[in-house]
Amino acid sequence: MRTTLVKLQADLENCTDLKPLDHEEYPHDYGFKFICNKCRYEHPKEIIINRFDRIAVQLKSQIKRTANFFTYCKDCHNEIFIIITLAEPVTAESKDTEDEDNFIPIIEVHSHGCRIKEFILEDQFQCTSSAGNIIEGVDLRANDWSEFDEEGNIPVTITNAKFQLEELPGNGQVTTL
Ligand SMILES: [Zn+2]
Repeated sequence: MRTTLVKLQADLENCTDLKPLDHEEYPHDYGFKFICNKCRYEHPKEIIINRFDRIAVQLKSQIKRTANFFTYCKDCHNEIFIIITLAEPVTAESKDTEDEDNFIPIIEVHSHGCRIKEFILEDQFQCTSSAGNIIEGVDLRANDWSEFDEEGNIPVTITNAKFQLEELPGNGQVTTL
């Protein structure tokens, strides 16, 4: 399978630990566009993947898998499935927002039969204010976001949010759920 990292970079003021809001009660809707590996057809429609959806996949080869998303290529009917895992937590040093090129991986997208071409942003992020309060509903779609942490009595600001896809070399390994 092929792994694509979704990486995030932003300038954080009075907050840390910016990441997708994503748990069983409130799963993140990860939006993507993809290209079929076999026929190179670019699927124009956005797909939404929820990390907590478990789909039993029966492949033509009789192999059974569990994935977060499964479809056939609209053009060549190639089997396509995707598994999303959270990226490894990063260390304090790598969170240094002073570094211009410091993109932090947030999720790993493991795909079979396709390549991830585009990540589509939803308004479901969270951060922790300097006062220690978790603030949900961080919307990065406009690249900048701010809110007043009433409890901690400080303004929390996120600016210059940017996302990047990094495709890791494909290998024969299968990621399982
Ligand atoms: Zn295809």
